[in-house]
Amino acid sequence: MKSVATDVLISEVGPRDGLQSIKSIMPTDLKNKWIDALFLSGIREIEVASFVPTKLLPQMADASLVVKHATTHPGLTVMALVPNLRGAQAAIEAGVHKITIPVSASAAHSMANVRKTREEMIEEVKKISQYRNAHAPNVKIEAGISTAFGCTLQGLVPEDDVIWLAEQVILAGADESGLSDTTGYANPAQIKRLFKRLRAAIGNKAGAAHLHNTRGLGLANCLAAFEAGVTSFDSSLGGLGGCPYAPGASGNVVTEDLVFMFEAMGITTGVNLDLLFKARNPLQDGVPQETLYGMVPEAGLPKGFAAATPWSHQ
Ligand code: ZN
Repeated sequence: MKSVATDVLISEVGPRDGLQSIKSIMPTDLKNKWIDALFLSGIREIEVASFVPTKLLPQMADASLVVKHATTHPGLTVMALVPNLRGAQAAIEAGVHKITIPVSASAAHSMANVRKTREEMIEEVKKISQYRNAHAPNVKIEAGISTAFGCTLQGLVPEDDVIWLAEQVILAGADESGLSDTTGYANPAQIKRLFKRLRAAIGNKAGAAHLHNTRGLGLANCLAAFEAGVTSFDSSLGGLGGCPYAPGASGNVVTEDLVFMFEAMGITTGVNLDLLFKARNPLQDGVPQETLYGMVPEAGLPKGFAAATPWSHQ
């Protein structure tokens, strides 16, 4: 399948963000089948794993194997999350195309999540960039500013802190920096304001919107980000990764619903919705006890629905 330029890039994060938020461990062969099905549907960027100690996240013990399999798909950008230089070295060795480093805007979340201050994380980004420059210059580095819209530990996160941190990680060598609503606190007005400020501060190094649906505003926030100029969106098939603080709510924005929204609006994603729905099968087989979310897969496509991506839904 030839890759065509699309209006927006849907970056599937389920195999990482989704799987690491749940207790079940998905067998490697089903992870691979899930990634195959996502690729077949037209998804061209997948965050497939995180490189963290197995003791902390046994769900990610097979990270290298999953990366190796995913990189067999031509035209697929294979991403992994790394919290530190050691993780980055392992990810690069496994063959990733892009690494993403979570950097918390909330000082309290940074200590709780990675046991480092924000300043120490900026140093870590610098070390990873230097390592990348020396050993794998083609690998891209994205620093995602997490808790950018509020924090369960700290509460309010000053917008100036978020923009300062984004500027610092770019100075430290990251290729791009996006904003993550880790806690599902954001609203569309805040999203628009902060992504506009981000673009004003770091220009075309402004990266993806990583938004959660914890309080039901996931799609509204994605649309607000799109209207603020964002063209790259993280989402998770079936909204995998329910937030432990909001039972019954999905965690990440649901990929199926996000693709539907854009395609229905005439904005191309490159993703075929029928094939995307089919990618739920290997996922559900791999984590049978988890609930998959998604309004559009439940209700089906509207009668006479015409997708924006030309070869989609035929
Ligand atoms: Zn997330």
